[in-house]
Formats: sequence, structure tokens, C-alpha cells
Amino acid sequence: MSLLSVSDALKRILASFQILEKTTIFLDKSVGRVLAEDILAGTDLPLFDNSSMDGFALCAADVTQAGSATPISLPVVDDIPAGKMPTHHLQVGEAARIMTGAPLPPGADAVVPVEETDFNNRAPGAALPESVQIFKAANLGANIRKRGTDIQHGESILHAGQRLRAQDLGMLAMLGVADVPVCRKPRVALLSSGDELTPIGQPLTEGKIYDVNSYTLGALLEAAGCEIIPLGVAADTPEAIKAALYSAKDADLILSSAGVSMGSFDFIKDVIEKEGKLNFWRINMRPGKPLTFGHYQNIPFIGLAGNPVSAFVGFMVFVRPVVEKMLGSSQQAQIVVRARLTEPIQSDGRESYLRAYLYHENGQRYAKLTGHQGSGNLFSMVQANALLIIPPEVKSLPTGAEVTAWLLE
Ligand code: AMP
Ligand code: MG
Repeated sequence: MSLLSVSDALKRILASFQILEKTTIFLDKSVGRVLAEDILAGTDLPLFDNSSMDGFALCAADVTQAGSATPISLPVVDDIPAGKMPTHHLQVGEAARIMTGAPLPPGADAVVPVEETDFNNRAPGAALPESVQIFKAANLGANIRKRGTDIQHGESILHAGQRLRAQDLGMLAMLGVADVPVCRKPRVALLSSGDELTPIGQPLTEGKIYDVNSYTLGALLEAAGCEIIPLGVAADTPEAIKAALYSAKDADLILSSAGVSMGSFDFIKDVIEKEGKLNFWRINMRPGKPLTFGHYQNIPFIGLAGNPVSAFVGFMVFVRPVVEKMLGSSQQAQIVVRARLTEPIQSDGRESYLRAYLYHENGQRYAKLTGHQGSGNLFSMVQANALLIIPPEVKSLPTGAEVTAWLLE
């Protein structure tokens, strides 16, 4: 059987998925979610002219001659804390005490900070002085944040497809956006299969091992923004697999691991083929050569290889892009960097994903393999902070060669 390239397999898989329905969620739940619509500013920012300092609002022309030896005294006619509108139109020759963020009174064209006056009392409740001495001239517009200087009404601020970060949430709050448009979370039914697998928390009996993939794949799905429908561990019988898949009815994707090497695979194959279709692919990659893809009752099904590293890499290569597509993400699924090898590398000509540790030295990024690259050796994945991607056809690379790497955040 000829091997399918990674990119062809991914293309075929992606064709079965669409962007999910839009909904809105409250702003405080939106970090990490993918925005489903462009956000245009519904207002200018700042919303109004305001002071960037605690000080005195005045007319700059009144204090052009001010100096420490030649202070200029002005009557204080208003007190404007943040959150309160000025009550007075400032006249030439007048000053108003003003706090950071408070609206500038009409008539004022500069703010002199308290440090440059004889009134340096910022204690809460400090009484308003009758007059203030100004020790320094102020430029026109000094310490004033003018309406609309950061953002103008109608300006495009955030874009559909971007994943929201803390600063984006702050921006949405500034704009008063309480309900954030996103696509709903993909529901992914997650299945581990194998007679040898024991759920964590139960004692191991002879010949058994703990189920690893439910936890790694579950964590990867959650980090990617999915809702998980846990199907648990199914034994290698048609009945067990049938029973597990029954709970997957509302899923957008069924993700299973193992049972794709011949033998036990037949059970999954039989069960799915009775109510859908399943392809068994051999991918030109390492690890993770066996991959199943198909549909179970119209729900897309991806079956990753069972070894813990194969399942992990298979997720990164095939599942993460699927999730990004369902979420409407316009961002690349992986952060791609380049790094120099600190040792020669052998490959077998398949597209290879090698566990490596990236570090910086003298302004250069280097990549060091983290040890044994067997597909069951999760420890070298634990020690890795990146996957090196050795392209197909490449059989060896010398020390110093530059390679592409995906960061494992
Ligand atoms: P299989 O494809 O079922 O032959 O599985 C390949 C290898 O991966 C076997 O050594 C399994 O024991 C191992 N394996 C499969 N699923 C898991 C899992 N969920 N956790 C840990 N190891 C697994
Ligand atoms: Mg098995």
C-alpha cells in the first residue's frame, strides 16, 4: 500500500469539517476563544478630553511666565474628581483642581501637575485650596488626553478569526462590548481503546497499563478550545466499542486512539462501517503512520495511533487544524520557528517529528534532541519544548543544519 502524504491526508480530513455556528458569550468567559466577527469601535477613545495627571486645569497662556522664583497665582474655581462632569466653564485667569481621568473643563487647554504647584496634597479628601501657585509654564494641550486620539469611531479594532488574549478582553471592555461573538466550542468525543488500558485511579493488574491518551489528548483538546465528551476506555470487543460510540451522538468529532494496528482495529472498523465509512490510511510520517479517518453516523471520526507520542503528534498534525477550522480561526495552528541542529540527524525519508529542546545562545536558536525517539517514550516528549519537522525524502542532516520546529507551548 502506498503512503499518503501528510498534506494530502490533512486536506482530505479538513474537507469534512465546517466552521461551527455563531453564538455570543459574556466577555469574562471569552479569553482564548476565537472571535467570530470583526469588532469596529462604536465610540471614540478616549471617550472625552481628560487629564492624564492629578493637577490643575488652566489656560496655558496664563502661565507662560511661571517659574519657581516667579510663580503665578490663580484662583481655584472647581474641583473635578474622576467620574464627575465639570460644573464650570473655565475663564482666563482661573484654575480647576482635576484628577487623573477626570473630564477636562471647557475653557481649559492644559493641565499642570500638582508637583509643579504649591499644592502637593493628594490625600483623599484634601480640601480645595482657594488659590494655587503655578511654578512652571505649560504647553498647549499638556497632560490632556484628547477624545479620539487612541481610537476613532468606526475604526477596525479586532478581527474575526483571532484568538482573544487578556489585552483584547480589556479592549472589548473599553469599547463596552459585553457579549462577544464567537463560534460555539467543538464537541469532541474522546475514546481510548485497548484491553490493557486501566483508567487512572484504579489499581493496575498484571499486564495492564494506565490509559495515557485520554489525558494528553483531553488536555490538548481543552487547550485548543473544545468541549470533551469523555467516552472512557473501551475494551477490544465490538460490544464495548459500540456502547462507547453510542454516547458520541452529539459530537462534532469522534477522536479515538489505538486499535489501528491490525487485529483489534477490525472491531472499530466493523462497528463504524456498519453505520458509516472508515478509511485506513498509512501516512508518510513518523511517528503516527497508521491513521483512520471516516464517519460514524455522519460524525467525522479520526483514529490516531495508540502509542502516547504517536497520538500526541497525530493530534498536532491532524486534529489541531480541524479544531481551528471549526472555530473559524485564522491563526496558524502551530507556532513555527527555525533552529540549528547541535547534532547530526538520521531519518528514514518519512516526514518526521522529532522531540527536541530549543535554546538560545549568542543570539542563535539551537535544537537538541531530547533522547530516545521511540513512539512509546513519552519522557522525551516531556523533556521537549518543540517538535522538529524533518521533511519527507530527507535521510540525514548534518550538525548546524537549519530545521523547522513547532513550539510546544
Ligand atoms: P494499538 O494500536 O492498540 O496496537 O496500540 C499501540 C500501542 O499503544 C500499544 O502498546 C498500546 O498499549 C499503546 N496504547 C494504546 N492506547 C493507549 C493509551 N490510551 N494509553 C497508553 N498507551 C496506549
Ligand atoms: Mg490496542
